[in-house]
Amino acid sequence: MLDIQKIRADFPILSEKVNGKPLIYFDNGATSQKPQIVIDAEAKYYQEINANIHRGVHTLSQLATDAYEISRVKLQHHINAKFAHEVLFTSGTTHGINLVANGFASILKPGDEVLVSALEHHSNIVPWQMLCEKTGAVLKVIPINDDGELIISEYESLLSDKTKIVTVNHISNALGIINPVKEMIAKAHAVGAAVLIDGAQAVPHLKPDVQDLDCDFYAFSGHKMCGPTGTGILFGKEDWLNKLPPYQGGGEMIKEVTFEKTTYADLPHKFEAGTPNIAGGIVLGTAVDYLNGIGFGNIQLQEHKLLEHATKRLLEIEGLRIYGNGKNKASVVSFNIDGIHPYDIGSIIDKLGIAVRTGHHCAQPIMNFFCIPGTIRASFSFYNTKEEIDIMVEAIKKAKTMLS
Ligand code: PMP
Repeated sequence: MLDIQKIRADFPILSEKVNGKPLIYFDNGATSQKPQIVIDAEAKYYQEINANIHRGVHTLSQLATDAYEISRVKLQHHINAKFAHEVLFTSGTTHGINLVANGFASILKPGDEVLVSALEHHSNIVPWQMLCEKTGAVLKVIPINDDGELIISEYESLLSDKTKIVTVNHISNALGIINPVKEMIAKAHAVGAAVLIDGAQAVPHLKPDVQDLDCDFYAFSGHKMCGPTGTGILFGKEDWLNKLPPYQGGGEMIKEVTFEKTTYADLPHKFEAGTPNIAGGIVLGTAVDYLNGIGFGNIQLQEHKLLEHATKRLLEIEGLRIYGNGKNKASVVSFNIDGIHPYDIGSIIDKLGIAVRTGHHCAQPIMNFFCIPGTIRASFSFYNTKEEIDIMVEAIKKAKTMLS
């Protein structure tokens, strides 16, 4: 059993007031809060070892390089990648997906197919649309049912030898649905297609095992898992990363440069042009240590309790509809109340110190599917409590009375 009060004390922002009220932070799907140990690690890097990496012979440069590479290995173990050079530092999920989509421009031919799902965040739709425009490939969409679950039989019938890459999120940001990615990856591989998993919403809740999943690429952001903004990881299987061309050209990613020809560095540096977010990359390792210290089993237990409690309490409100009632869900509740715009509820409860997200959650196709402009999304983390949920439910009831 987690001692939630002890855990909450790790997060200084959780004792702040917003609009004169104690902060209740239920926008964890957008970004998580940071424990003091992460905040301190960022300052410590700049206070003690700040230097550019992979370049200098001087001591600080070596200390910074070692810390950065140790963090890479930590992330490798965290996701169970076979090699550290399969773990690329990025600025976040968006960067990772664009890197792969850009690389596939050299692989796809007109008429090839890219399969995305109807549950995707815009950052796992738009780069593939851009790729299709560039190459003449065709974008196909795996549909969802009324519970927001992917329809696997439709997925199977979309797969063919024309499918070159399937790209799907592990957990949907807008609805919290957990997709059966392992099964989907096996089916894609059976027709020879590669698979990218957008793990942005999964990594705060679970420890992905990329070898067990057998995914070809797995992209995620550090800021949603207690780490700093502007950090992320793209895992890619060695063979794929060797096959794809570099994404950006510049320093760090070369072996030799002449005006006639440039040769590229080995993995992972081929994909890491320029000075990276050194502090961020190191501190992402601290965040992963922190989460593993709590334990993902404990995190899931706590978050599941919060999900069940919130679902039950919110459904007490007349006219409230929850979107995404699939069986496998992370701790996200996306809902609306009959006749009330989500923005109005969000604004009123913000005045009471409660942070939820309202709108389309960068997933407009899902909103179009349900014929709504957006939802109110409460996304919970292990540091949230049932008492906070009760306060939100009462605040929503009050807001509803005001707005009806
Ligand atoms: N995919 C999903 C499912 C997300 O939830 C997000 C962030 N909301 C992203 C991709 C993009 O992540 P980032 O903005 O950190 O690059």
